[in-house]
Amino acid sequence: MNDLSEQICRRMAVTGPVSLADYMAECLFHPTLGYYTTAAVFGATGDFITAPEVSQMFGELMGLALAQAWVDQSCAAPATLAELGPGRGTLMADLLRATRAVPGMHAALSVNFLEASPQLREQQRTALSGHPTNWIDRIEDLPEAPLFLIANEFFDALPIRQFVRDGSGWRERLVTETDGGLGLCLSEPGRIEALEHRLTDTSDGEVVELCPSLPSVVTEIARRIANHGGCAIVIDYGDWRSRGDTLQALKHHAPVGPFDGPGEADLTAHVDFEAIAAAAIAAGATASPPVAQGVLLERLGITERAQALAKAMPNATALENHIAAHRRLTHPQEMGSLFKAIAIYRPGSPPPPGF
Ligand code: SAH
Repeated sequence: MNDLSEQICRRMAVTGPVSLADYMAECLFHPTLGYYTTAAVFGATGDFITAPEVSQMFGELMGLALAQAWVDQSCAAPATLAELGPGRGTLMADLLRATRAVPGMHAALSVNFLEASPQLREQQRTALSGHPTNWIDRIEDLPEAPLFLIANEFFDALPIRQFVRDGSGWRERLVTETDGGLGLCLSEPGRIEALEHRLTDTSDGEVVELCPSLPSVVTEIARRIANHGGCAIVIDYGDWRSRGDTLQALKHHAPVGPFDGPGEADLTAHVDFEAIAAAAIAAGATASPPVAQGVLLERLGITERAQALAKAMPNATALENHIAAHRRLTHPQEMGSLFKAIAIYRPGSPPPPGF
């Protein structure tokens, strides 16, 4: 058992078993032993590579999509340019570079980052090399202003709860102490208000997931967009409606058990795009249908951008890597289909480009 599993066990000796969401939150954000607070998590030497780390084209194209949306909305000013969970800051750095020439855009938009990890905030500061940036602790702290927002692989890190169908109720999968480690047990069955609609499309023994913090995060975003204008682009792996156990632990690019070494692996779960759309609509905004990442990037012109960049590659190895990165972002067997994007925008306004 590592230090964090011992702490979790000591706590459970008092509280009893905890939800997977509580467990995930401890593993990811424990102030000294949490995954995002301790590890060098991104890139080839870390545990996973995200789209902005694969190629500069990802952040550039997202930047141009948001810039076009901003221009389409009469160059709203002052307005907010926000990113949720910016990681190393690569996406925003590429976005800002690609939009430098859009007249008035950088002056009108103030950059806001929602980031829980102090270590990653430092990396983001460096990546943005002096561009004025405001870090917020809670989504509620976003300014009341037109909001142009991007979130890549943020929602998959939000803690989830899991439930197993049992007759007309559900048993929650809870984390408990087992022989020399941590494992799962089931709660007593009960009705769950938020899962009533799933009684029609699941059968006994099936697992569904709920992300308790997702609705409030989406509501804060969608309400600002409905009231003040703007749009949000959310990209993540997942699908329309949660089905089955999707909790995944990754360490050094390989899957490990979610209880093997708490805090040592990245824990994520598929994002339920239906839940994002439902919360956005309930808050008065519109949601696009989800679009596969590969399709979105093609619509935004990744092939033309890739060809232009290819001409400037210094040698054959760089060119090979560049072609592989393009493929990785767009090909259905790589990130192209598993990852989806959804746009939140104002009713009556056009969706951002690509949606
Ligand atoms: N968007 C980046 C990083 C993805 S990893 C990229 O594409 O490379 C997830 C990011 O979200 C990290 O920066 C992590 O610290 C942050 N994060 C996850 N959950 C969070 C929460 N509840 N509040 C604030 N930041 C969070």
